[in-house]
Amino acid sequence: MKPRFFVSQQLPEKGFFILKDRDVSHQLKNVLRLRAGERVVLLDNSGYEYECAVSDIKNREAGMEVIERREIGNQGIELALYQSVIKKDKMEWVFQKCTEIGAAKFVPVISAHSVKLGVNLKRSEIIIKEAAEQSGRSKLPVLFDPVSFGNAIEIAKNSGGLNILAHNIGDHVSLKYFCERKDLPLSINLFIGPEGGYSEEEVSLARENDFQIVSLGKRILRAETAAIAASYFLIAQK
Ligand code: SAH
Repeated sequence: MKPRFFVSQQLPEKGFFILKDRDVSHQLKNVLRLRAGERVVLLDNSGYEYECAVSDIKNREAGMEVIERREIGNQGIELALYQSVIKKDKMEWVFQKCTEIGAAKFVPVISAHSVKLGVNLKRSEIIIKEAAEQSGRSKLPVLFDPVSFGNAIEIAKNSGGLNILAHNIGDHVSLKYFCERKDLPLSINLFIGPEGGYSEEEVSLARENDFQIVSLGKRILRAETAAIAASYFLIAQK
């Protein structure tokens, strides 16, 4: 696979242009050591990917030519992961792995039992970008600012997708059985709790708002395991 980079400037349909991105130029020049004529794929989140030939790479910018612009097809299930904030390294692991799996959105949620309350958004965005490039994604997942559990419920409800909350206490329909029975819509909001699990009030609030409460099996998974396993399972349905 050709190296892929997300860039913040809008790319032209065809022809020559100057890529004004220091980090990518540095990668092309000093890490990949590309020469004139070699190709990379650039992505600007516009719904297209651009196969480009390098013409002249400097330290801070690079002359490039668009060889082919390709439309990015249907991405399958659009999964928004509402992950309760967990310890920094675990949260970042969830962002990285679920980007590889194909999540479209990450909404960090501050839950009653959250031990940690914040997320380093800048660092997390870099992790997400690198994981998206490495795994060959054409769209960058969107990372939201942390929201309270109550707000998260509202945001999910207003988004119009199917709302699912994973809870490990009590008897709930398994995610697998639920997916088999239901013709899944393309947009799904998945809620995964923090290390300490959801409070009963949170589960009640979700239920009152017509969320489907699901089990991921009889074992208690760590939050990050639950996020990755359930995300993969849902995305693999389409
Ligand atoms: N400390 C809690 C476990 C929390 S697990 C306890 O001992 O009860 C963290 C989160 O992962 C949960 O809130 C839930 O969203 C998800 N999870 C873990 N195992 C699960 C299971 N078997 N079924 C459904 N959700 C699960």
